[in-house]
Amino acid sequence: MVEAITRPTRIEISKSAIQHNIEVVKQTAGATKLFLAVKSNGYGLGLVPVSQAAVAGGAYGLAVALMDEALALRDARITAPIIILGISPAEQAELMAVQNIITTVVSLDWLKSAAQNLSGEQRLAVSIGVDTGMGRIGFRDRDALAETIDYLQQHQDKFEYTGLFTHFSESDSSEVAYFHKQLERWHALTDGLPAPKFYHVANSGAAMYHADEVPHDVVRVGTVVYGMEPSRGELNDGKDLQPVMTLRSEINFMKQLPAGEGISYSHKYTTTDDEWIGTVPIGYGDGWLRKMMGFNVIVDGQYVPIVGQVAMDQLMIRLPREYPLGTTVTFIGRDGALENTLEDVATHADLAPWEIVTGFQERLHRILVD
Ligand SMILES: *Cc1c(COP(=O)(O)O)cnc(C)c1O
Repeated sequence: MVEAITRPTRIEISKSAIQHNIEVVKQTAGATKLFLAVKSNGYGLGLVPVSQAAVAGGAYGLAVALMDEALALRDARITAPIIILGISPAEQAELMAVQNIITTVVSLDWLKSAAQNLSGEQRLAVSIGVDTGMGRIGFRDRDALAETIDYLQQHQDKFEYTGLFTHFSESDSSEVAYFHKQLERWHALTDGLPAPKFYHVANSGAAMYHADEVPHDVVRVGTVVYGMEPSRGELNDGKDLQPVMTLRSEINFMKQLPAGEGISYSHKYTTTDDEWIGTVPIGYGDGWLRKMMGFNVIVDGQYVPIVGQVAMDQLMIRLPREYPLGTTVTFIGRDGALENTLEDVATHADLAPWEIVTGFQERLHRILVD
């Protein structure tokens, strides 16, 4: 993998915005501890920089999908609690215990295999998953769940009963019936069973809109801390949140063309007059999608359109006059009075904002700023 640090194209991540958004979530939810979901390269913004900013900004711990992501955080000397939300190989139980990583358990068989692989020198912290209607992973049967918790408690030499959790499939819309169905199942499955060190059930939507209804002392959120309003404006205008990222580059080639000249692959754009066309070194190979043709970027405090197809590494913009090489081009972020938000990009691409950011490739240089 190559990160392009000699190219002017870069993502800047704001530490203060991450801190601010963490505070907003904690306050809104009434949470004392927040795990920030940093799976999939920190929602595309950069696993290590985002995690560092989050821990410095008040996150208690980090949540990843995979063991490899957890180990990458430990390699980066991040010592905060880490929870793996997906299923890891039972053969790796000892490594997770030694690295002090909380692992998700969704079957008794897994625990029994893990026990075989644990020396007992370090206990493995376990978070038990309950499927209340996401239909993904977790116990759906109370007896099997109770039996597993019982096994954990019988084997405290090897395991610590750290967490009990579920995941909501719809917590961020005005459609609340399914959320309530999941909540009922949560109570039916878990009420009266031995309590873990902590429950963690609230994702962004539940933390922001249903905190009163769910255990909320510990929340497990991503979207909202990245400045993306989970309901995309349906339940809240998101004005309390701060955008955490900008994406900028520079004009690195400039030319004037007469009318009738084609621009980029398949000549989807043809000049209609004498036109100033600038080239910018970013493309769909960076995760700036081909669907972004026609989107307005910001140059010198004004909107200018992306013309012609977005190529893998470069794209063209139409400018009102000649600009010097090195002029800043803002794809996401503020320039003067104008701002492009992630939501603007998502709307143009007809995708969700979290799909846009997780599509950002390794090649994009990411920088932490204050
Ligand atoms: C991704 C994920 C989260 C975070 O969800 P957001 O909606 O981004 O807050 C929480 N829990 C689990 C299990 C997840 O997979």
